Amino acid sequence: MSGRRTFFIETLGCPKNQVDSDKLVGTLLADGMAPAPSPEAADLVVVNTCAFIEEARQESVDTVLALADRKAAGAELVVTGCLAERYGVDLAEALPEADSVAGFGVPVTLGAKPAVPSFDLLNLPRPAASAPWAYVKVAEGCDKACGFCAIPTFRGPQRSRARDQVLEEVDRLVAGGAREVVLVAQDLASYGRDQGSGTKDLVPLVAAVAARVPWTRLLYLYPSDLTPRLVEAVLATGVPYFDLSLQHVSAPLVRRMRRWGDGDRFLERIDGIRGQAPGAAFRSSFIVGYPGETEADHDLLLEFLEAAQLDWCGFFAYSREEGTFAADLDGSVPRSLVDDRLAELRERQDAITAARRDDLVGAEVDVLVDAPGEARSHREAPEIDGIVVVPRHLEVGEFHRVRITGAEGPDTHAEPLVMAGR
Ligand code: SF4
Repeated sequence: MSGRRTFFIETLGCPKNQVDSDKLVGTLLADGMAPAPSPEAADLVVVNTCAFIEEARQESVDTVLALADRKAAGAELVVTGCLAERYGVDLAEALPEADSVAGFGVPVTLGAKPAVPSFDLLNLPRPAASAPWAYVKVAEGCDKACGFCAIPTFRGPQRSRARDQVLEEVDRLVAGGAREVVLVAQDLASYGRDQGSGTKDLVPLVAAVAARVPWTRLLYLYPSDLTPRLVEAVLATGVPYFDLSLQHVSAPLVRRMRRWGDGDRFLERIDGIRGQAPGAAFRSSFIVGYPGETEADHDLLLEFLEAAQLDWCGFFAYSREEGTFAADLDGSVPRSLVDDRLAELRERQDAITAARRDDLVGAEVDVLVDAPGEARSHREAPEIDGIVVVPRHLEVGEFHRVRITGAEGPDTHAEPLVMAGR
């Protein structure tokens, strides 16, 4: 027995939370603690929560309660992340099972060393990636004010990391074996705007990251910020993958969401990109049942899905968030109708996704092997989209040239050709 204190971290929510958890691991290791294989075996159990919508909040609370049951007597249970940030004191009162409820930064005081002041997790070190890909968060917070979204109220205005710090983190990850870097932020395309200089935007950052790592992928692009320059920068990375945060296509509803665009403009941009890169892959997410959403709005979205033929889509039920613009809007949509609309949209999109996967049979693509038998091409973002099933002998962490031999729902199957030689 080493006698070192041990920790266990449970992470909920989005990729951005995973980055925060990685950094917590980095600081706890630096503080001399050791990872525990299970919550039962840990001296410190941390739940990194999500507060995005009601379902996520419920899952976070359920997880805290379940871990409170499982942890050893005398072990410390700490709740951090978005839920803690947003509901701090109230949450602490509602969850006496937790020993502390702490916003971001505070958990770095949990290790063996004396307490350090709370500071931004963005610039903390992180351990080497355990997979051949890693998320890198380039900014925190958001300056937009979308009607449904509470993130700016508790994550604050956008704070971009300095480009050198991002690149240092990328260099460390690459040295640790990462072959793909996934850039994330609440509003990625606005990276650098808070730094007050036109040169500090996303385009040079993408180019600099892409010069360091074979694959660079971008998540969460606000559609109006998808400028020709940015499209070119993405295509130049060799990973033509566009995750467009569209949310809806009906112009009046999009305005009510206090966002930019409509279905026609989105299609124009998507078609434009396909004209430059026919193999480009697209993902988007949509909110269903925003206050005032009519049957005609819903039909427009269905038509858009047919016209756009996106590779991947997520559909989410609108969740009323205290403190947002939409919280006071009239025209709430009954839950049963929202569920019907969600089911119809998902069914339609599942068929589109499956057909697009079928169309790939016979194609040759480069894939990165994430785990024995599991790989991804440029079309699949890690942990979000489907996978490419490959023979188990293909080496993990390497690129391989494969031919797609079959498709099954969101996944495809492939056989190796020759090494891609990267
Ligand atoms: S851009 Fe994203 S994070 Fe920012 S307010 Fe809109 S939905 Fe929320």
